[in-house]
Amino acid sequence: MEFKRIGILTSGGDAPGMNAAVRAVTRAALSRGVEVMGIYEGYQGLIDENMKLFSSHDVSNILDIGGTVLYSARCLAFKEEEGMQKAIESCKKNRIDGIVAVGGDGTFRGACDLSDRGIPCIGIPGTIDNDITSTDESIGFDTAMNTVLAMVDRLRQTCESHSRCNVVEVMGRDAGDIAIQAGIATGACVIAVKEYPFDRDAAVEQILKCKDAGKRNFIVLVAEGCAVGNPTFSEDLTKYIEEKTGIETRLARLAHVLRGGSPSLRDRVLASRMGVEAVNLLLDGRSKLVVCLHGNKIESLDINYALTLDRMFKNKLKDNDLDNYSAEQIEAMKAYCADREARKRALYDIGFQIAR
Ligand code: ADP
Repeated sequence: MEFKRIGILTSGGDAPGMNAAVRAVTRAALSRGVEVMGIYEGYQGLIDENMKLFSSHDVSNILDIGGTVLYSARCLAFKEEEGMQKAIESCKKNRIDGIVAVGGDGTFRGACDLSDRGIPCIGIPGTIDNDITSTDESIGFDTAMNTVLAMVDRLRQTCESHSRCNVVEVMGRDAGDIAIQAGIATGACVIAVKEYPFDRDAAVEQILKCKDAGKRNFIVLVAEGCAVGNPTFSEDLTKYIEEKTGIETRLARLAHVLRGGSPSLRDRVLASRMGVEAVNLLLDGRSKLVVCLHGNKIESLDINYALTLDRMFKNKLKDNDLDNYSAEQIEAMKAYCADREARKRALYDIGFQIAR
């Protein structure tokens, strides 16, 4: 089919760098003679026809802005057939031939459903948590980690002055990647993520060893995932450390601070590369794909494959999930997950090894 107009939307949790992706998609499409419809508030805006035809100028001066100028919204109606049909009607009425959707798993599920109903879609991974298994990095992850560095560097300075400990909780419900990498980069004494067993007595011992070695600042980085099923994990740990070490211990929860800020160079470049690739894929007649970073290469995977890979990595496979895949594909998925896990574990171990 010949593409005359594509839609671009951002959906799910926002992430710095989403605007760079919107800009890249818009500019790449316009340069190839294809019109771009900016769709506001994700799939809700598609249903409500909340959209605007973009000129090149409409995406000027957004490269360095956090959040998403297209806004985001949760749209429950889109999960129902009626909402989906409204979205398809809206595409027809507004002459949208295909859609690039920036977001996470939920966004990709929506893109998959739309593709199955005849509107070609390409997904771009945007989430600070880096919890999208199919890509080495998602847009926003690097910026979020840099924000942790900026915040923890400040906390460490005041900890140093007062010989204090600061527990710092960072976002990452399903993946502790932010805590692991930012933990290494801030010289945290202890890193706690839900993926690996955590022993608070070992953490206390580690802090005391650091103290004995002459350290005065004690940073404990906790991923939000540790609080799943135990909402007071960080508060409890803070009290426990103070009680057992005698070191004054405070808690800082960075929460949504990590979602904001000007995107880093790395995120801007990643978003730009992914945006251009998404347009190339659509105009090549491809559909139902998610753009991924593998090593330094921009590639793409079938959305269903990517979602299955994600469930495999997170041990959430459903009964019939692997039925449609060949033995070779299943082996390839297992190898991919094992490699990703090994790289993550190696980083966690490095953090532990050099913490003192
Ligand atoms: P994320 O994309 O960051 O994972 P959500 O899970 O909130 O964020 O999903 C974003 C949006 O994608 C939802 O508000 C909804 O409109 C759509 N969506 C999520 N799950 C599905 C689904 N199973 N089927 C269709 N659309 C979905």
